Amino acid sequence: MKQRLFASLAVRLVISHLIVGALSVGLIASIAGHFILETGRREIENIYEDTAFLIGNDLEVPLILYVDEGKVVNEQILALMNHSLTGRGRVGYSIYLADGAVFMGNENLDPAAPIMPEVKIALSGMDGESIRDNLAGEETFFVAVPIKHQDKLYGALRFAVVYDDYLGATYQTLYLLCFTSILLLIGIGVGSWWFSRTISQPIHDLTVVAIRMSNGELQARAMPKGPQELQQFAATFNMMAGYLQTNMEGLRAFVANASHELRTPLTAIRLHVDALAEGAVAEPEVAMRFLGQLQSEIERMNRTVNDLLDLSRIEANRGRIEMEELDLRDILQETRDFWRVRSQQAAIELRLSLPSINPTIFGNEDQLRRVINNLVDNAIKHTPANGWVEISLFSLVQRGVMRIEVRDSGVGIPAEYLARIFERFYRAEVPHDLKTSGSGLGLAIAKSIVEAHNGRIGVSSLVGVGSTFWVELQIRQVPSFDRKTIPIRG
Ligand code: ADP
Repeated sequence: MKQRLFASLAVRLVISHLIVGALSVGLIASIAGHFILETGRREIENIYEDTAFLIGNDLEVPLILYVDEGKVVNEQILALMNHSLTGRGRVGYSIYLADGAVFMGNENLDPAAPIMPEVKIALSGMDGESIRDNLAGEETFFVAVPIKHQDKLYGALRFAVVYDDYLGATYQTLYLLCFTSILLLIGIGVGSWWFSRTISQPIHDLTVVAIRMSNGELQARAMPKGPQELQQFAATFNMMAGYLQTNMEGLRAFVANASHELRTPLTAIRLHVDALAEGAVAEPEVAMRFLGQLQSEIERMNRTVNDLLDLSRIEANRGRIEMEELDLRDILQETRDFWRVRSQQAAIELRLSLPSINPTIFGNEDQLRRVINNLVDNAIKHTPANGWVEISLFSLVQRGVMRIEVRDSGVGIPAEYLARIFERFYRAEVPHDLKTSGSGLGLAIAKSIVEAHNGRIGVSSLVGVGSTFWVELQIRQVPSFDRKTIPIRG
């Protein structure tokens, strides 16, 4: 549990913010605290330096009277000290004579104790200062000033001020500083928790959506929120999810269609085999007819399975197909030659129209032949006798593409079917006398191949007038051109 808590992004962010916050607040607070404390101490020192100087001056007269004239001045000095020190905090004072003997004071000093350094300095005629612990172990500021008159030294006055007695207000300021720092750290913690949640929450939401999707809920989508990068991530994630959903649904439909396409000939085969087993085999004429039908159903199944395999191979190898520089004129001429006999048998005129010089394209020859053959095959299949089919090549240099068109004067395709004509297993309704036995995969394969070449494929058609299927492929190299038409009577 402990490990999981520290593994969480939000907690890690909060901890790192708190560390940085504590270091900076601590550093600022300690610098400020040090400054405040030093200022407080300096103030005390200044006050008592001045006070010692002033009272030292006031002590000149009584000490002259005592030293030079032998008068008793204790009461006078006591009154002076009481007057000068009333209203201040605890302060120790001692008055020394020029020989270093303690004359008076409120500190009860040991007369046998050695003379303190600051007093020694004062007795040498200068102001002396020292900071050290007093007998009670408290840090104390000692300041001593000489008492002189016309260059004659009469003695010295020393003050002992315990810092802590005077730093109450400074300590309060320091406590306030500590309190503010703690408040600031709590603020950093709360702010950082909120900030971390704006990062960790969208990631958590995305994880939940990913889990839902992996449990089969393909329509689940993430809500773009949080920082810009995470919003972009969520949008991209949704795009990927949409793509996945479409593909999965397409795949399901594809499997359902494929099963259906295979089940139809299988059912027919089973029925014919059952009929043969139940006695039809004994009647040679019926048996021959059934065998013929069996053969055509098996061929149909074979064609469908082969097309399915080809389609999945093309889809799997997208982006990895071998390409070379191709002159489409050669391919179209050979296609025309290949379909010549078939079109003649169907009494269809097969025309070919090519530009004399044409730009080359980059592609896989076998696959492009397959596309063109499929279009020509379809055109011939859907054109009644005495019609025509024209294969044309255009070089649309401005648009950077070569355009192949296969036009026919056939039955045409109703507008409502046009949009779906390139879908797998989709077959438009065709007049009964033209019913063909295709797998419904030819155009899907053609589309897949063209898209693998980064090209486009499309169709326009009018019922009773004919159809035009077109393919556009990107040009690789451009020479000059003129056009010629080679009609071939079927
Ligand atoms: P099939 O193997 O059935 O020919 P395709 O994918 O090649 O499958 O074609 C799909 C459907 O498109 C065909 O069944 C047909 O209805 C229609 N079609 C294709 N080409 C033509 C055309 N030139 N004229 C009329 N209909 C066509």
